[in-house]
Amino acid sequence: MKWTGEGYKMIKEDIIGKSTEILKKYNLCDSCLGRQFALLGSGLTNRERGRAIKTVLLMKAFSLSGLRDEELLKVLCESGFKPALKLVSRYGLQIKYEKKPCYLCNNFFEEKNLDEWIKKILDKIDEIEFETFQVGCRLDSSLLAREEDLRTLFKLEYGESIKTEINREIGRRICENTGKRHSMKSPDILIIVDLTVNDVVLEIKPLYIYGRYRKLTRGIPQNIWFCPRCRGRGCEKCGGTGRLYLESIEEYISLPLMEAAEGTGYKFHGAGREDVDVRTLGSGRPFVVEIKNPRKRKINLNEVIKRINEEAAGKVEVLMLEFSDKKTVRHIKKLAEISAKTYKALVKFNETVSLEKLKELEEFFKNKAISQRTPRRVLHRRPDKVRRKTVFDVKAKRITDDTVEFTIKCQGGLYVKELITGDEGRTKPNFSDFLGLKAESITLDVMGVED
Ligand SMILES: [Zn+2]
Ligand SMILES: [Zn+2]
Repeated sequence: MKWTGEGYKMIKEDIIGKSTEILKKYNLCDSCLGRQFALLGSGLTNRERGRAIKTVLLMKAFSLSGLRDEELLKVLCESGFKPALKLVSRYGLQIKYEKKPCYLCNNFFEEKNLDEWIKKILDKIDEIEFETFQVGCRLDSSLLAREEDLRTLFKLEYGESIKTEINREIGRRICENTGKRHSMKSPDILIIVDLTVNDVVLEIKPLYIYGRYRKLTRGIPQNIWFCPRCRGRGCEKCGGTGRLYLESIEEYISLPLMEAAEGTGYKFHGAGREDVDVRTLGSGRPFVVEIKNPRKRKINLNEVIKRINEEAAGKVEVLMLEFSDKKTVRHIKKLAEISAKTYKALVKFNETVSLEKLKELEEFFKNKAISQRTPRRVLHRRPDKVRRKTVFDVKAKRITDDTVEFTIKCQGGLYVKELITGDEGRTKPNFSDFLGLKAESITLDVMGVED
């Protein structure tokens, strides 16, 4: 197909014409001049485009037969175009010029300046483990405005953004220097060339590690629980520790991972959580630990498992760990709401429990819909509302006259203690009402959260 019309005419006649006008008004380096025509031709760098144009301009400005466009020669010299400088000195031309910085990039694309940026970046990423990277940049808005105004003024329609060129030129050099891969899709690190503060900013993608834990003892919360009185600052009530519990599952698991990855922080995402006085046994509870700013990504997870299980021996046990991603965090959050859980509850009632009644209870609670209003004990941190959850199956085993071991399989998010006590009528139906008894104590274990 033949390219016709206005666009074609402009390209044919005006690459040289417009470049002459531009350079007579603004001093542009090779790259910045070439970039205004970036969509023309392929397999060329903008610097090559700029040099080609300036080469033709030099031919236009000087001929051995005596033709001279001194103004054009002057601006070519001012833009640092080497053949022009050589020519002026070789022929001893009386052209007064002063070398000026590039109007758009302030000489960013000059090789020695690029080298300096690359050195800065290599220093920053030294000893950081990564396979993929992406480059971004921050520029003064006035710079972007200058380029836009220039394009409007000279009706330039074939340019690309200076940001694109910076990112590409820096990216190519980082590739060459490190052998790492440039990737647009979730790179391990994002290198931001910040021209506004003349520095390199690094964003490291968090490291996500999936695992399952068992909680072997009662009395440890999943998360750090700050003293409600001082909120962590330390007071008389908490003995200056700032905390209600000195230990937590999240710390037992996350701190060794954070240390191995040389991160600066962590976030622990559990697939739900058990109460402080509830154990989690069986296949354990899924979780994801998110490590912030990891300097290491290829950590030996088996070694970390070993270390956690030694340091938390008898309290917390990690069953497995594997590398994961951000999606899994959302997945296990949802999991906590919908997946089935099995509990073992040892319940002591105020009077003898009839075996017959227990049989009836097993029948009655098979696939039973439970209406549960937010338990009083969590009202201070959860909104007061009614949830509908299902009990799938109950097995009751009488241990002594007044003590029963229940195995309860139910939907995630059901408060099991309240299923047993009734929570003063807030959970309906419930075991206590059904048996006509009062639960005096409950010892609860989670027997694993299904994945
Ligand atoms: Zn420039
Ligand atoms: Zn306190």
